[in-house]
Amino acid sequence: MKIADVLRLTGQAFLDALYPPHCANCLADTPSGIHLCTKCAAQAPKIKAPFCSQCSQPFDGAIDDVFVCFQCEGRKLHFDCAIAPYRSRGVVREFIHRFKYERHFYLRQPLANWLAEALEDRRITDQPFDFLVPVPLHSTRYRERDFNQAEVLAKLLAKRAGKPVLAALKRIRYTTTQTRLDREQRMENLRNAFRVRHASRVQSRHLILVDDVFTTGSTVAECARVLRQAGAASVRVVTVARG
Ligand SMILES: [Zn+2]
Ligand SMILES: [Zn+2]
Repeated sequence: MKIADVLRLTGQAFLDALYPPHCANCLADTPSGIHLCTKCAAQAPKIKAPFCSQCSQPFDGAIDDVFVCFQCEGRKLHFDCAIAPYRSRGVVREFIHRFKYERHFYLRQPLANWLAEALEDRRITDQPFDFLVPVPLHSTRYRERDFNQAEVLAKLLAKRAGKPVLAALKRIRYTTTQTRLDREQRMENLRNAFRVRHASRVQSRHLILVDDVFTTGSTVAECARVLRQAGAASVRVVTVARG
């Protein structure tokens, strides 16, 4: 065993003694480095078929065929598909919130585990991709928060997928919070909010856009629009959860 490994292991044992490992949701004891117990993991609201082939909106009912939901129908979405393994409810919503707004940074691990499930979706495995592109934060927001949650998740995903992260987007306009706006207003609010960087590297490339949550899809749709305009061959979206 290398010295670095010994130090890492003893360091972890030391941390475990100081802060006994426990589930971040129910506080039950967990193995070292695990932040979610199996009971709580089983309660995470997984999205199961049938769901919209474009935006993954689940559908209550029986449909065997591939279908597109009424929200996506007749709407020009510039991404090929958006995949979210979970609903933004319960423990999933709670972890995203604590990670993003309360700086519970260790929660990036269970969030990345959930996000990685999106890479197993047929819509991703059917066609190779070149880069993972995080949805950027505006520099003002970045200074407030100290990190970009999409970038943190994209980097963890990159390790697992063996594909590079490309920070191909810059947020050039500070947008006010979108939570109270409807879809039309969100699109208006986002107009000219993003600019493509490294345009030559985006040319003819297959991209996976990464974000934490898909709410109305307006943000990722606008990101996808500018990336396609810059010559990207395809843009697929992965998020931990969807609204
Ligand atoms: Zn638990
Ligand atoms: Zn849809």
